[in-house]
Amino acid sequence: MNQRSTRGVNHQPACPCLQFVDVSVAYAGGSHGRTTRNGRDLALQHISFQVESGQRVAVIGPNGAGKSTLLHLIAGTIQPTSGQIRIFGSGPGKHICIAYVPQRSQIDWSFPVTATDVVMMGRAGQIGLLRRPSRQDKQIVQESLARVNALPLAHKQIGELSGGQQQRIFIARALAQEAELLLLDEPLTGLDTPSQEMIFTILESLRPDGVTVLMATHDLALAAEHFDQIMLLNQAVVAFGSPTVVLTPDNLLHAYGGRMSALMQAVAPTRTTT
Ligand code: ADP
Repeated sequence: MNQRSTRGVNHQPACPCLQFVDVSVAYAGGSHGRTTRNGRDLALQHISFQVESGQRVAVIGPNGAGKSTLLHLIAGTIQPTSGQIRIFGSGPGKHICIAYVPQRSQIDWSFPVTATDVVMMGRAGQIGLLRRPSRQDKQIVQESLARVNALPLAHKQIGELSGGQQQRIFIARALAQEAELLLLDEPLTGLDTPSQEMIFTILESLRPDGVTVLMATHDLALAAEHFDQIMLLNQAVVAFGSPTVVLTPDNLLHAYGGRMSALMQAVAPTRTTT
């Protein structure tokens, strides 16, 4: 990802990678979130935060907290009901610097495409509608597959691959896109420990490129271990900052309520008994 995107929206150098200003979302038909005084049912309410380039942010919170909604807003696939979202100074639409890796359950794995086809889709924003992939595009796809250790999978159908391999191919698609902002929606779910570790190794390899990463996850221990910052969400931002600042009993109780004791065991350091 040495070459940056030349198409899409220009970035304003003085602006942060990502900025939310008082963003709320109400889905049509309701979202079973909190109902406000004016009677609207909000999936997210009054969200304000800022992420600088190169930061790693884990987005955690109970089911229905709005984690996926937050990522969709950044990807531009849904619009806020109120408030403003800025990516490098302008609205989310048309940015080709944003790569979104959806939850595995949201992908039709029977779609007849090879791993190479999926990674080439990452070049679509650069290639445009009317041009065929150039030699350089093909080379970037090969390099992206190589970076996630997936060259041997290049010609396999995407549906034939294991969960961990499929996630690596989607990360390769983001690499081919030369993404500067990578959004991952629960990419660790259902993966074994080696596959999870491989994903973190790949994400770590993006640090020198200054790629910003937001990952929604249920795994608090991995979030604490691998991320600079954690956003604890429950329709509103409960806490946002370093893992030690965010993962306190008070904050977790606020967000998770009665499910907190199981969570505390998940994040507490392992103690040996004598
Ligand atoms: P999370 O990812 O934290 O589990 P979501 O962002 O998926 O949370 O959902 C937040 C809230 O919005 C939930 O109450 C959910 O039911 C609701 N919601 C999500 N997507 C839709 C939709 N397309 N239409 C209506 N409500 C939705």
